[in-house]
Amino acid sequence: MSDALLWRTLAREGEARTGVILTRRGAFETPVFMPVGTLGSVKGVRFEELEATDLDASIILANTYHLWLRPGHEVIRACGGLHKFIGWGRAILTDSGGFQVFSLSDLRRVSEGGVEFRSHVDGGLCFLSPEVSMEVQAALGSDIVMAFDECPPGQAAHDAARASMELTARWARRSRARFDELQREGADAGQTRDANGSSDEARMGVDGVSGRQAIFGIVQGATHLDLRRESLARTVEVGFDGYAIGGLSVGEEKEVMYEVVERVAPSMPSDAPRYLMGVGTPEDLVECVARGVDMFDCVMPTRNGRNGQAFTSRGKLNIKNARWTTDTRPLDELCACSVCRRHSRAYLRHLYMTGEMLAAVLLSHHNLAFFLDTMRRVRQAIRSGEFTRFRREFLVGTGSGVE
Ligand SMILES: [Zn+2]
Repeated sequence: MSDALLWRTLAREGEARTGVILTRRGAFETPVFMPVGTLGSVKGVRFEELEATDLDASIILANTYHLWLRPGHEVIRACGGLHKFIGWGRAILTDSGGFQVFSLSDLRRVSEGGVEFRSHVDGGLCFLSPEVSMEVQAALGSDIVMAFDECPPGQAAHDAARASMELTARWARRSRARFDELQREGADAGQTRDANGSSDEARMGVDGVSGRQAIFGIVQGATHLDLRRESLARTVEVGFDGYAIGGLSVGEEKEVMYEVVERVAPSMPSDAPRYLMGVGTPEDLVECVARGVDMFDCVMPTRNGRNGQAFTSRGKLNIKNARWTTDTRPLDELCACSVCRRHSRAYLRHLYMTGEMLAAVLLSHHNLAFFLDTMRRVRQAIRSGEFTRFRREFLVGTGSGVE
């Protein structure tokens, strides 16, 4: 049987690497940024825009927790799986729901079996476990499934972080077992090949991958390096198609986050993708690529865009600022996106100040373009052996302040 996902390294520079991930819905190069489509939509951005050359996102992330509560995974299964439901033919990664349960819901009760909590939507009592998470992600039919983990607070003390890490390790085993059962039962709504092995997606040219879902394991352990090492060993022992670092960017100091990534990522299997969950700013992305990470997701481009903040090659720009009132320059003079080609800071500020929904649309588009283009330039730099210089110049630029 062929693999659900394949990884090939193209070039390395120090710990930074560029490679190709082959999924059943296409191949894409890393390092890669995945726009977040929480409820099955990347807020304020049409799928045509995500596919067009400006953004050209090859994979997006959707949230299991949110889609499970609304509209419900059985609704999405009945509509042919998440790709058909939302109208997106490229790859989708779904998280396990764990992070949202621990960050959004009230009255959590964590037991060996799973987590009981109250829905943030209607207050109803819900139960999420490794098995339920795998069943929901099979019904969604995403291309990459995440194992169900517990996310301890960033500053968790060693004892609490150890207990949590061990629970995550046991849940990883249960996630893997239920995931494999569901694949055998044909529960995956996103399969791209029928039982005979023939594929109606052969046109995508993804040879050598099976048409089944892939599954990633998650390394936890808060900021304790000994726990992170043990978590990594136990996750690799279970065996996954890729490995993620979870539980960072949850309130710890930035330097602490960089140190954990620096100590963990290079020890992760070199023949599988490495994914840093929920991180971060453009500077974080570049810094963590330098420490060996391949995949990222973050809500910042769209969330901050809706709040009037643009990311630029000279740092963050607050569009509310009165100094842009008659400024006819684009958001970022070095950005080639359609927003920067057409519109001025003055116009975008006017849209924002008058509450026009187009402000959020245009700022989200530019921010996504900036994140995705930064990754494109990172890949190019690694391929041509110029990543060290790129990294230095990028950080000088974003740290210099918008003029
Ligand atoms: Zn732009």
